[in-house]
Amino acid sequence: MTSSTTTPPSRPARRRRGEGQWALGYREPLNANEQSKKDDNPLNVRARIENIYAHRGFDSIDPGDLRGRFRWWGLYTQRKAGIDGGKTATLEPEELDDRYFMLRVRIDGGQLNLAQLRTIADISVEFARDSADLTDRQNVQYHWIDVRDMPTIWERLEGVGLSTQEACGDCPRVILGSPVAGISADEIIDARPAIEAVESRYIGDRAFSNLPRKFKSAISGHPGHDVVPQINDIAFIGAEHPAHGPGFDLWVGGGLSTNPMLAQRVGVWVPIDEVPEVWEGVVSIFRDYGYRRLRSRARLKFLVADWGIEKFREVLETEYLERTLVDLDAPEVPATPVDHVGVHRQKDGRYYVGVAATVGRISGTLLNRVADVVEAHGSDRVATTPMQKLVVLDVEEDRVESLVEALAELGLHARPSQWRRNTMACTGIEYCKLAIVETKARAADLIGELEKRVPELDAPITVNVNGCPNSCARIQTADIGLKGQLVLDENGDQVEGFQVHLGGALGLEAGFGRKLRAHKVTGEQLPDYVEKLSRTFLEQRDADESFAH
Ligand code: SF4
Repeated sequence: MTSSTTTPPSRPARRRRGEGQWALGYREPLNANEQSKKDDNPLNVRARIENIYAHRGFDSIDPGDLRGRFRWWGLYTQRKAGIDGGKTATLEPEELDDRYFMLRVRIDGGQLNLAQLRTIADISVEFARDSADLTDRQNVQYHWIDVRDMPTIWERLEGVGLSTQEACGDCPRVILGSPVAGISADEIIDARPAIEAVESRYIGDRAFSNLPRKFKSAISGHPGHDVVPQINDIAFIGAEHPAHGPGFDLWVGGGLSTNPMLAQRVGVWVPIDEVPEVWEGVVSIFRDYGYRRLRSRARLKFLVADWGIEKFREVLETEYLERTLVDLDAPEVPATPVDHVGVHRQKDGRYYVGVAATVGRISGTLLNRVADVVEAHGSDRVATTPMQKLVVLDVEEDRVESLVEALAELGLHARPSQWRRNTMACTGIEYCKLAIVETKARAADLIGELEKRVPELDAPITVNVNGCPNSCARIQTADIGLKGQLVLDENGDQVEGFQVHLGGALGLEAGFGRKLRAHKVTGEQLPDYVEKLSRTFLEQRDADESFAH
């Protein structure tokens, strides 16, 4: 017989290893993170911080709390100063740990009154060495927090209705919301009641404090994708149903990191009073069916990709809601997500003014000045945005220009250059233990250089600077996505640099940038590289052509 007719020896069918899905009976923890969450509900760490660690100090902290459960209250150890990026992957976690913490304050929906803004600012000045970054999830992030100060910090924040609960960890994180909810003339529905309902019912609910990994939510009644729905685990976006009227279009399964996936529409319309119940159904699917064996596969997006959206909808309707949802045809998707920068008329005739804080870096001192300026111009409200911007709300028409000028004097521009408006940066090596390179200062320098070299740029080119492959500043969805890594300089020495991804976008033509192997730049080469790309774009573009398309 010839080999072509030989029957290969039969192998026993390979059993698919369980992925640790609770709903399929895999309740035993399959890794150290799952074990830690099972041993003690991470929300319990608050009591230990208040009763023990705040009195006895850093050295008294149990390692399982320090590198695990602290996150459920918004606390991460920050990176010890002076450790270069080449050592990030080689050192043990305790060698990278500083004795201070990053603390994240969740601002669900991004809405702040001036009392809240001043409280955030004062905590920064008193307890965080004046640090305060605006994140791309509408949070404020402090550094240099001492565990001994946490009871006072919580007392101050909670006294004005703010919280750090579940700001990090394997739980429902801050809920993104339209910064201009309730006032935008373009809005389909004011989503604030839905955000408040989800927050008050489920944040801190122990039924959802042990998820396979983080769960990112967005609820916005604005049709302009101002909460970047395509990269959230769940998003409700304002949509008009031809028969039922205003409500929400449901998306699930988006996320970036090292395995980026775009969210998919479930194809259903959800009225505002049903948002909490549907949110609960989706997060319950994630809790029960989400993969818990490997953390790299533990986001909802992997389950949605494996099941397909039809099966996801069927499970949601039959197992969790026990009813059928209303079908909805795809609403229009905007060309790009709206950032609300500039001066815009509200539906009540007043104005809102969106300003660019350079790469989200601000300070407590600056925030107090912002509060003074805003108050002096007759407003009591500001909002943070998912693009690391600030928006001042409710400004009378005759105060707008004076406000714009006063904010510009603080370095917050309502009419920024394209470079300042469209560059984002993650935390980077200054504080992040996973970082390989510096990001914030480098991105700010890059903006300054490009404003001098290519001031004529008249179309958006998004530049997102990340300190490692994790994509906190969305590498893959930028026109120019920069992934921090060590690269070789012209002398063959390893230096801080970036792998470039080109041509990513969110919105109508959403897609991930392509990694171009030859495009690796050192930090020093970055201004030359971006200048060259932008000049090529300006010279070769057709009318109305964007950088990505
Ligand atoms: Fe840290 Fe990497 Fe996230 Fe930047 S992308 S904040 S370096 S984990």
